[in-house]
Amino acid sequence: MLHTLKTYFGYESFRPLQEEIIHHILEKKDALVLMPTGGGKSICYQLPALMMEGTTIVVSPLISLMKDQVGALRANGISAGALNSSNNETENASLRRECLQGKIKLLYISPEKLLSEMNFLLKDIRISLFAIDEAHCISQWGHDFRPEYTQMKVLHQEFPQIPIVALTATADKITREDIVKQLALRNPRTFISSFDRPNLSLSVKRGYQQKEKTKTILEFIAQHTNQSGIIYCMSRSKTESVAQMLQKHGIKAAVYHAGLSAAARDEAQDDFINDRVQVVCATIAFGMGIDKSNVRWVIHYNMPKSIENFYQEIGRAGRDGMESDTILFYSLSDIILLSKFANESNQQEMNLEKLHRMQQYAEADICRRRILLNYFGESSERDCGNCDVCKNPPERFDGTVIVQKALSGIARTEEKVGTRLLIDILKGFSNAEVVEKGYDQLKTFGVGRDIPARDWHDYLLQMLQLGYFEIAYNENGHLKITESGRKVLFGQEKAMLVVIKHEDILPKGRKKKEGKVPKAKIVQPSFYGTDNEALFEQLRLLRKKLADQQAVPAYIILSDKVLHLISTIRPTSIEAFGEINGIGEFKKEKYGKEFVGIIKAFIEKQSDLI
Ligand code: ADP
Ligand code: MG
Repeated sequence: MLHTLKTYFGYESFRPLQEEIIHHILEKKDALVLMPTGGGKSICYQLPALMMEGTTIVVSPLISLMKDQVGALRANGISAGALNSSNNETENASLRRECLQGKIKLLYISPEKLLSEMNFLLKDIRISLFAIDEAHCISQWGHDFRPEYTQMKVLHQEFPQIPIVALTATADKITREDIVKQLALRNPRTFISSFDRPNLSLSVKRGYQQKEKTKTILEFIAQHTNQSGIIYCMSRSKTESVAQMLQKHGIKAAVYHAGLSAAARDEAQDDFINDRVQVVCATIAFGMGIDKSNVRWVIHYNMPKSIENFYQEIGRAGRDGMESDTILFYSLSDIILLSKFANESNQQEMNLEKLHRMQQYAEADICRRRILLNYFGESSERDCGNCDVCKNPPERFDGTVIVQKALSGIARTEEKVGTRLLIDILKGFSNAEVVEKGYDQLKTFGVGRDIPARDWHDYLLQMLQLGYFEIAYNENGHLKITESGRKVLFGQEKAMLVVIKHEDILPKGRKKKEGKVPKAKIVQPSFYGTDNEALFEQLRLLRKKLADQQAVPAYIILSDKVLHLISTIRPTSIEAFGEINGIGEFKKEKYGKEFVGIIKAFIEKQSDLI
């Protein structure tokens, strides 16, 4: 197994569970595999496919995913193909022929085609294994959009001897049980790997207004030159305005949401995958169809409605295992809007609870990763050291007077104002509405002048979290003081608030250079130390040239991680090139010469200078 892994994929060792899963499949037993995005599910069926006789049939819900996987396999010298509606007749006919001749090790197929070929092609070829990728589609989408996924019970009826492995990154119990039932898996073993993604940094920016978000994003991107990223927004119009803002600042950005034509969405996705745009501004509609391994960062412009959504979306960064950053913007207006949606939804109670857990995450003053892992049923004993709370623990102060000012403002308007008007009153802004309602005559008018409006937003958010007031969604979002709020207002209890930090936006303790290098332990020590930007750039351009020649995305040629290893280790022979983790026999033969050539020239030039 290790030999096959090394030969085809160039990896030195298995990730946790991969080896056990592969053993299990080689014994022709059914399995359900749960691993986070980027956890390495593909190897779990691709390796058995290479080791068993015949063809492995991989069911995949999206054409873009199939294309990506087939591209990656072929780039490793493995014969693979995809049978789906995007091929023309000639392509499908020749692929069929190759299958019948037993030349294809992995055949990717859409669920529709699987069903229509059940009694034809599939009966005529020797099948080694069925792999159902993104198996959660059975339960989440199955009934509404993909009836074919729910009809896959027939697989075991028609092919009783052939094992089935179902794979997904969605871990909840209902989905799991549904998958087993719908596929009629026989005594399946369930493999659940850790959902931890230690290479993703986590940080939350609380109470930022649009201007500050813009500034933060622009500075962040400036520190991540050439690095791909996704900005998730709550609305379609927001995706467009954020993209325009980026374009205005010379950043190549595309828009992706369900309101665009299929052609426009495909184009945005394709441009992103092939590094023709650096950023995609998207709604939750974006993501399932991309396996791009070098997404280096994900920003949430607005808070997502649940931790599941959030985790899946940030999970799209750093699939190659390299350090990647995530930022969540979290503001009062998001909470108000999301609560409104949840209140109006069919499953009100559940949606509110999910939102509440998401809010707790955003408000946390303990290690954020522990909260996430705990949410997914994993306990972790230690703090992660790679989230903003670990790096920069929040400080508290006695904010009783601040809270009293706000609460008395609410009380004196007879609880008839929302947050915006309350801030106007506290700041002493005599605008039309304030004057018309006579609020400029209140005793609280202007008592909060010394605090910037932006900070008032933040403090109000904290007060909401601390339960000092509630928002009446059925009364135009007016604020209502709670029992514990009254205690603070009347001086019976103290209120401890978190100090607002107007820090700069880069996650602390990480300088620009470090972000580009894989963690120290995976970098083999070399005479030269870490990689050199000039050499890296040359290698990157070579990769780009090769990618363009073959019309595949750059990360299919070599991942970012491999490229960094090459520029650090600097192999000067093809053999040494092949030793690098992630380079198999095929890539060694195909690319070794050109890469080694560049490295040699670079070293020569350097020693020339000494
Ligand atoms: P997912 O679980 O999301 O389907 P993939 O199968 O796409 O994840 O794998 C994510 C990345 O991890 C790929 O770049 C893959 O080549 C890499 N990978 C998988 N297994 C290993 C391994 N044993 N050693 C190193 N990298 C691996
Ligand atoms: Mg996958």
